[in-house]
Amino acid sequence: MSNAVHPDVERVLITEPRIHRRIASLAREIGDCYGDDEVTIITVLNGSMVFLGELLHRLPMPTRLDTVVARSYGAGTTSSGRVRISRQWKLSLRGRHVLLVDDILDTGLTMKRICDHIRRERPASLRTCVLLDKPMRRVADIQPDFVGFEIPDKFVVGYGLDFAERYRNLPCIAVLKPEIYRA
Ligand code: 5GP
Ligand code: MG
Repeated sequence: MSNAVHPDVERVLITEPRIHRRIASLAREIGDCYGDDEVTIITVLNGSMVFLGELLHRLPMPTRLDTVVARSYGAGTTSSGRVRISRQWKLSLRGRHVLLVDDILDTGLTMKRICDHIRRERPASLRTCVLLDKPMRRVADIQPDFVGFEIPDKFVVGYGLDFAERYRNLPCIAVLKPEIYRA
């Protein structure tokens, strides 16, 4: 199966059909939570693009969409611990129901930092949604409200997640061969 996806892939962790099924049920969970309330979605670029695209058109409630760019990784596989918000959202969040969407929650430092910024704008509510969660790696005090999958402590790529900006287009979540990470 791995080689059918990409020659650099060692193991597929989550297949494309499983991802699609889970995102459909996640959209229902989110819809049940908000009812008819309008939700302002802030999505963290670039990693969450593919996930958000699949999730967004399944959400039943009215939405507004904006983006934020945050960086902590550079081209490595471990967080630098320093999170920089390099481009903020433009919409006003005051009094709004805000849903922050990211690809993966690892140390949690990125989401925590962005959540702190959002709270300064006094939203009516703030919730978080991630496709993947690595709970054993958590450093920051943050619990996601909506989680697609919990995964083990492995650096994963695909479905929007990259290694040095590559592999975002893989249709599944996968672990690369060790020699690729070392190169
Ligand atoms: P955190 O601040 O929670 O440690 O890291 C969040 C960001 O690090 C994510 O938005 C993602 O861009 C990146 N990241 C964390 N774990 C992984 C991983 O396993 N694979 C990839 N490709 N990126 C990751
Ligand atoms: Mg990211």
